[in-house]
Amino acid sequence: MPELPEVETIRRALELKLPGKRIANLLIREPRLRWPVDAVKLEQLVAGQIIKSIDRRAKYLLIRFERESTLIIHLGMSGSLLFLTESRAFDKHDHIVFYFENDSELRFRDPRRFGMVDAIAPGMEAVYPRLAHLGVEPLAPNTSPDNLYEKARFLKRPIKNLLMDARYIVGVGNIYANEALYYAGIDPRTPTGSLGRKQWAYLLSHIQTVLKNAIDQGGTTLNDFVNSNGETGYFQLSLAVYGREGEPCLQCGQAIKKIAMGGRSSFFCPECQALLKK
Ligand SMILES: [Zn+2]
Repeated sequence: MPELPEVETIRRALELKLPGKRIANLLIREPRLRWPVDAVKLEQLVAGQIIKSIDRRAKYLLIRFERESTLIIHLGMSGSLLFLTESRAFDKHDHIVFYFENDSELRFRDPRRFGMVDAIAPGMEAVYPRLAHLGVEPLAPNTSPDNLYEKARFLKRPIKNLLMDARYIVGVGNIYANEALYYAGIDPRTPTGSLGRKQWAYLLSHIQTVLKNAIDQGGTTLNDFVNSNGETGYFQLSLAVYGREGEPCLQCGQAIKKIAMGGRSSFFCPECQALLKK
């Protein structure tokens, strides 16, 4: 499944190719994605539009047009985007095609069809249901750890579970939550409300570092991401705790522990990660 760093890498690749291009027309070959594709809405808000910029919110790609409507794409479990400059036979999983004026095209391919393609009318983004309730964007320049502290200071649920709850913070994911908590020296079971402002600041900075490192590693293969094969690749991350149960901690040598939390695996060092109390 594409995680935030992968989606951000795709955004950067699209940003190099798409702005200034006009979508001449589009073809919906398969409307049955996670939610049915609204052909009328796409035709009204996307066809004929000139692309202005490519943004990202959580794992949604936002392709913004000069006339203020927006094409929103989520890659789901297995989605990818192909940018083609020559005609090519359709793959059976090529569900939606955006044709540009100059003979190039963008294809949305998604074998498992958990992805999403929709359009947002000008001025409606703030109330768009799938975006309206999203929490803090960890890499946004205006993100403040104080917001997270204020929102979460009375919660008793484990910090690891909160980091994976998009109502509070978006796009962290299981691997990055484990890694950030390790570097911040916080036991994943720590009740969220035990974190003070300082600890939130420290934790957020480590979340940002972990995500940025993943993006940098993806960035080295940027050209492969929106390629003609639609392969999104997978980040070869060097991980400190995730997937390392029983192996020695990189800092103290103690064996890394694995426990189940909220249905997901948590990996941590019992020596280096403190269970904080109020
Ligand atoms: Zn350790």
